[in-house]
Amino acid sequence: MKPNFDQFKLRDAKKAKKILKKIEDADEKIKLMHVCGTHQDTLVKHGLDPMLKKVGVEICQGPGCPVCVTTQREIEEMITLAENGKTVAVFGDMLNVPGSEKTLLDIRSEGGDVKIVYSIDDALKMAKEKDEVVFISVGFETTIPSTANVIKNGPPSNFSILPCNRVVPPALEAIMDMGEIDLDGLIEPGHVSTIIGTEPYRSLSDRYKIPQVVAGFEPLDLLLAVWMLLKQVQEGRSEVENEYKRVVKEEGNVKAKKLMEKVFEPTDVRWRGFPNIPDSGLKLRERYGMYDARDKFSDILGPLKDREFEEPEGCSCGAVLRGVMKSNECTLFGDECTPNDPVGPCMVSREGACNIEYRYR
Ligand code: SF4
Repeated sequence: MKPNFDQFKLRDAKKAKKILKKIEDADEKIKLMHVCGTHQDTLVKHGLDPMLKKVGVEICQGPGCPVCVTTQREIEEMITLAENGKTVAVFGDMLNVPGSEKTLLDIRSEGGDVKIVYSIDDALKMAKEKDEVVFISVGFETTIPSTANVIKNGPPSNFSILPCNRVVPPALEAIMDMGEIDLDGLIEPGHVSTIIGTEPYRSLSDRYKIPQVVAGFEPLDLLLAVWMLLKQVQEGRSEVENEYKRVVKEEGNVKAKKLMEKVFEPTDVRWRGFPNIPDSGLKLRERYGMYDARDKFSDILGPLKDREFEEPEGCSCGAVLRGVMKSNECTLFGDECTPNDPVGPCMVSREGACNIEYRYR
């Protein structure tokens, strides 16, 4: 296999120092938000966070971890399905997220059929051997097309999904509308933008006069994105720019977008820490309704509709996800809440701000 020299170009210390110096010389204090666990990982793992803070740039993580934004109600639905004899196929990060009393891991140790999968295709294969398989469909635009593809192709009748997917642009709008946090710019997620392109961010810049840059995941990508945002701030521009042009096209992945639209339609959903966000979730279109576990198993999931589910006591995941609190400002961080004994999902998922902070602190 040939070595990938591009990777080294994007981790070039000399270039990084040059960009940092430019940022420092700009002498501007700005606050930015990104919505991506991988961006957070790069920022913390490579020590960019404190370096940028020193030169006046603060970056917080918004609601960019799909497991973390899943609500207590959705966790309870997953647990209830497993407790009622369904084979629940989930991504590993979901296993340890605390429900009101138990986790999916607890249910599995009590004999429930909870299986870890790496993709919806793994779950689909299980349907050949199991009675009823429910795939827990968590994730942003990056993973939604593969779910849509399976549903469009007509999986077997003992296969269904629990739709817990969310789309990113409406959440950004909610952050701006709520006005809890004063932001000078947004770093947009590279993976999600590969699918949706840059167009869906434009109305946000027009409406809120907020600069945005789509960024890749290497240290130089993020430093360049910060520099591009800083330039926009200094020049009074509020545009959508693309730092990740080597992967993200303006129009995104047209085929994947069409597939999503064919199978799903927008719906209002809550995100952890947020009120209902209009059109930020997805539900299966009527013609695919037979694959919706909420309809198929309404006898066991229906009673949950009228119940209220509290977030874990003392957990500040909601505030962390809205960017108004840093993980280590939560009183439970690192003491009562650790990756081995998590209180909230932000400590469970490897994309969660608390988990990342704990691993690299
Ligand atoms: S440290 Fe734990 S309890 Fe606190 S916000 Fe993070 S996940 Fe929630």
